[in-house]
Amino acid sequence: MSNRKQIVVIGGSAAGPKAAARARRLDEYADIIILQKSPDLSMASCGYPYYVGGFFNDRNMLLSTPTGVTRDPEFYFRAKGIIARTETEATAIDRERRTVTCKQLRTGEVDTIPYDKLIIATGATPNRPPISGIDLEGITTLQTMQDTDYLRKIRDEKKVKKAIVIGGGLIGIETCEALHLAGIHITVIELLPQLLSFLDWEMAKLVENHVKSKSANVITQNGVVKFLGENGRLAGVKLQNGTELPCELAVIAVGVTPNVKLAREAGIVIGETSGKLVDEYMQNSDQKIYDVGKRVD
Ligand SMILES: Cc1cc2nc3c(=O)[nH]c(=O)nc-3n(C[C@H](O)[C@H](O)[C@H](O)COP(=O)(O)OP(=O)(O)OC[C@H]3O[C@@H](n4cnc5c(N)ncnc54)[C@H](O)[C@@H]3O)c2cc1C
Repeated sequence: MSNRKQIVVIGGSAAGPKAAARARRLDEYADIIILQKSPDLSMASCGYPYYVGGFFNDRNMLLSTPTGVTRDPEFYFRAKGIIARTETEATAIDRERRTVTCKQLRTGEVDTIPYDKLIIATGATPNRPPISGIDLEGITTLQTMQDTDYLRKIRDEKKVKKAIVIGGGLIGIETCEALHLAGIHITVIELLPQLLSFLDWEMAKLVENHVKSKSANVITQNGVVKFLGENGRLAGVKLQNGTELPCELAVIAVGVTPNVKLAREAGIVIGETSGKLVDEYMQNSDQKIYDVGKRVD
């Protein structure tokens, strides 16, 4: 190996590519490699609900620079000298040898990549509570491009008439708006007494009244206890109070859990709230490894 530093970044959504680009600005000679499990890179997740809702129709806007250049591996290589390997999952970190093992998900090819510095930006996975029937067709989250494509297809096909959004947080409310604009009747179900739990009650009530003014239904202090199916497809939900609501689509938006399996298996210290502990330089318990996009305990 040359004496150029090798910086490996695991995760290629928001935080990973940002960290890689910053590393390039700090060191123009380093070899920088991004390993990204998904097929896409640097996705604009905040725009997903707006694409689903039809605020814009060009899917590529979620994946491109403001000047319209797709942020794909070629872009990263040409513009920043960064190698981005998509559909490549990091499966193990060997801290003693300072290597990352990864697998190309299409070909199954396994590779071991050495690092001088490692940046973990593996993000979070949406929670899917263990409710009976959760694997029925018609139940989704809104977290990935694949979820976004699924919901956008539902919008374009115009077959779904009724949907449930489980969770009245930010993503739940954005999803409610998007599906409402798709002409679908929505019921938002929230366990707590109010939507957007971080707001004062009075503010949350204003939001609730606005949602209801759009003919959406809001049910608070209630939760889904069962998904009801017909021939493998979602047909409705049963609530804690026994009410059954028919629906063809349910979007679960009940928070996320940090992806720490890889780090935990490598012996990196995990904090009390399930994120990795980092210091003020975002280094974790192994000083060769940085973490981004995670909750700091
Ligand atoms: C619908 C929606 C709307 C949002 N709106 C806003 C908003 O308006 N404002 C705001 O501030 N935030 C918003 N967010 C939150 C914001 O998108 C996230 O905070 C941000 O995406 C986190 O970035 P990240 O890179 O840390 O993690 P993630 O986006 O979770 O990305 C992690 C990436 O790592 C990859 N990965 C995981 N494990 C591995 C592995 N072992 N090997 C290789 N790759 C791996 C995954 O495939 C994934 O692409 C929104 C999120 C969503 C879903």
